[in-house]
Amino acid sequence: MMNLANRVQTLTPSTTLAITAKANELKAQGVDVIGLGAGEPDYNTPENILEAAYQSMKDGKTKYTPAGGLPALKEAIINKLQRDQGLSYSPKEVMVGIGAKHVLYTLFQVLLNEGDEVIIPIPYWVSYPEQVKLAQGVPVYIEATASQEYKISPLQLREAITDRTKAVILNTPSNPTGMIYSKEELEALAEVCREFDILIVSDEIYEKLIYGDVKHTSIATLSEDAKKRTILINGVSKSHSMTGWRIGYAAADASLVKAMTDLASHSTSNPVTTSQYAAIEAYNGPQDAVEEMRQAFEERLNVIFPKLQAIPGFTVIRPQGAFYLLPDVSEAAAKTGYGSVDDFVTALLTEANVAVIPGSGFGANSTIRLSYATSLEKLTEAVERIHQFVTSKW
Ligand code: PLP
Repeated sequence: MMNLANRVQTLTPSTTLAITAKANELKAQGVDVIGLGAGEPDYNTPENILEAAYQSMKDGKTKYTPAGGLPALKEAIINKLQRDQGLSYSPKEVMVGIGAKHVLYTLFQVLLNEGDEVIIPIPYWVSYPEQVKLAQGVPVYIEATASQEYKISPLQLREAITDRTKAVILNTPSNPTGMIYSKEELEALAEVCREFDILIVSDEIYEKLIYGDVKHTSIATLSEDAKKRTILINGVSKSHSMTGWRIGYAAADASLVKAMTDLASHSTSNPVTTSQYAAIEAYNGPQDAVEEMRQAFEERLNVIFPKLQAIPGFTVIRPQGAFYLLPDVSEAAAKTGYGSVDDFVTALLTEANVAVIPGSGFGANSTIRLSYATSLEKLTEAVERIHQFVTSKW
């Protein structure tokens, strides 16, 4: 065994990967497994974006770029933030990185000293705690229960803050809950952040995927103070079905962006050049495909949600955004004879041949996460299989 660095000793491998590996194993044996684990839209990247990428390569734009992104991409992002949120940023306040994930990683590396605390609401996106720990920070969890629609209250935030608190992470719309903070809820949270002078990491990667008549509000839009203390994170992965292109960005205070860019200059050199040209087209070109994909997700949600609700022992809140459902299945697991939701998930895969993600990976042990970023036909079949599995063992 290699003697590895202390910093990776507690690194938890992604739960998503473990279940996907098992599902692939079964598929290789010829088993008809339906995977509901995907964290990415099932559409190809829109044609105009593919064309722009191809054209840039033909034009010889295949070399290094500035570490924090091409000026033209920064400009496209600045225009997008102005157009969609009414926010004004200068190029010095924008840093483009290799997906929102790596931008967040870079952020925590430049922000945290050993022992600095970052408040993370449960259920959380799997990478937040690991990234904070890799930067020698300490994740401090606040549990947002189903009864509070998986959203933290200002009081909970207040109570979690200590003199070591550096920031709170807010992810709206949320992966895995699909919940969206209203403007009023964000105002109350921003007020606590102002009072205790802490930063806000606002992960808005699912901004474009919202359903019904809810609205996405960026906390940075609430006041000059909120904007100053917010690190706004977004990217093209989910909005433009560009997960594999790896383009995300941060909009924040110029000194923070400079530090992140300096770090990137030694770690990545620059985000992939071709992908940057693709992202310029994603933001500057027509946005029809974004809306088409949103509508398709909403349609699937409308079909699948009542079917999921009808499964005995499943309690599920209708999500407002993203493309995940997070039913509490503790009753179903207990009634069908499983000691834990993790065991229930394993049995769902091996016996019903449906792959879902156990909520334990998101800090929400009584839940499972299903992604509806797959065809309606497969979704319907998968939920029928789950229903059948539960009733046959009840
Ligand atoms: N933030 C959240 C909440 C996510 O779910 C994801 C991807 O699954 C990301 C950030 C990272 O997105 P990307 O690195 O593809 O830009």
